[in-house]
Amino acid sequence: MRENIIELKNIKKVFDDTVVVDDFNLTVKKGEFVTFLGPSGCGKTTTLRMIAGFEFPTEGEILLNGKDISSLPPNLRPINTVFQRYALFPHLNVYDNVAFGLNLKKLPKSVISEKVKNVLEVVDLEGFEKRRISTLSGGQQQRIAIARAIVNEPDILLLDEPLGALDLKMRKEMQLELKSMHEQLGITFIYVTHDQEEALTMSDKVVVMSDGMIQQTGTPEEIYNEPKNAFVADFIGESNIFEGRMAASMTVEFCKTQFPCVDNVPKDTRVDVVVRPEDVIITAPEEGQIRGVVDSAVFKGMYYEITALCGDNEVVIQSTRDAVPGQEIGMKIDPDNIHVMPAGALMNVYDGVITKDGRAAFAGGEYECDLTQLCDGSRLSGECSVITAGGEEIDLAGTYVTVEVPVKAVSMSDEQKEYRASGNIISFIYKGNHYNYTVRTATEEDFVLDEDDLWNEGDHVSLVIPKEEIILKRK
Ligand code: ATP
Repeated sequence: MRENIIELKNIKKVFDDTVVVDDFNLTVKKGEFVTFLGPSGCGKTTTLRMIAGFEFPTEGEILLNGKDISSLPPNLRPINTVFQRYALFPHLNVYDNVAFGLNLKKLPKSVISEKVKNVLEVVDLEGFEKRRISTLSGGQQQRIAIARAIVNEPDILLLDEPLGALDLKMRKEMQLELKSMHEQLGITFIYVTHDQEEALTMSDKVVVMSDGMIQQTGTPEEIYNEPKNAFVADFIGESNIFEGRMAASMTVEFCKTQFPCVDNVPKDTRVDVVVRPEDVIITAPEEGQIRGVVDSAVFKGMYYEITALCGDNEVVIQSTRDAVPGQEIGMKIDPDNIHVMPAGALMNVYDGVITKDGRAAFAGGEYECDLTQLCDGSRLSGECSVITAGGEEIDLAGTYVTVEVPVKAVSMSDEQKEYRASGNIISFIYKGNHYNYTVRTATEEDFVLDEDDLWNEGDHVSLVIPKEEIILKRK
């Protein structure tokens, strides 16, 4: 068993009242290649900067070899960072750039020269000592930046999107080179990227993040083959995601059909079902578990990407066989290629208060609602008061309530109304016949909702909720 080198325990980071990393727990073993993977803004860099010591956690502990280093400054940590922008000194040549840290440490000249020579060999730039930085390509400059970081022989190398500025071909080459450098050096690498292919190619362990939280930690194979939830499945590779229900243990129903599966989940549990396009097998129409009509077929080099309509559900298939639009096909899926995972929320829940004009104020908006829910058997007697079954009049203004709004009851509009809650779409997932959106309001509260139409991430929308769908409970 390899020893742990870094442990992050219950890390939370708050900037100006905004939680950007929360409940972050991770163990990194000596010599491991660990990658933080997630969309822009999910907190990858902030977590890396806390490990480096450029930021300090608001809560939680960072342990290095079992000792708490949470408040240790960066220069006292045996850690070096390589950034996306190379941060080289343009007025110094390659040798002086690489030797910079060693000169500061006042090591003997002969030792410095030996170390620089060795490290230039590792990054495959031997003989480049006298070259000026401006004469190097982007890939070569990034290799010098890596050489400058590893020449200090850190225990841990942090790499923040180090290949982000390179073109695709150079990036692919450098991915392989970094991987072989990692094997050669035995240093622990912690790598940040938003590119899932890069993460799967290079890492021993991938940490998938969204919205400041870890969604799943595992080997590339585990993350790809056994995604824990619809977010991970959607983010890693291509997926069909369907809403489903367990018809029995080991039988799941989706696309109006029951399929044997390998998950022992209780009957009637609502689930999300994930099927990779390469796992849908095309058959003759009468031999499939489901039938569909081909909507499109596009040649992608190694395979055809075929979209078929099965009822109102779209199924994406990768197949080596072509199909023609309009053709009827059958589709089969092996039980172990059907991934069943917990379904998303059904209900949005908020803290709210009743206003003087009898509306429910929550999530930055005010909505008409049925106040009689707050007193059994009551009827409305004024804008914000009810008369109970016993004849007593109760003024409800200022009453604190829990507001529940079913996911299926919320819709979005681009028309802003002053009394409606509004926010930006922060993510969405396609679920075969509709999109499942998350909208974050200015009050940092989330609305989850389903819509048929495609909106864009970042769109600013207002949230429409019919009066009869708002469920109120006294606090
Ligand atoms: P990217 O891939 O775009 O760099 P990321 O996943 O690395 O994204 P972070 O850079 O960690 O994300 O940022 C997470 C959130 O924290 C963002 O909303 C960002 O705006 C915010 N944030 C980061 N640094 C600060 C800061 N110093 N002050 C306030 N907010 C910050």
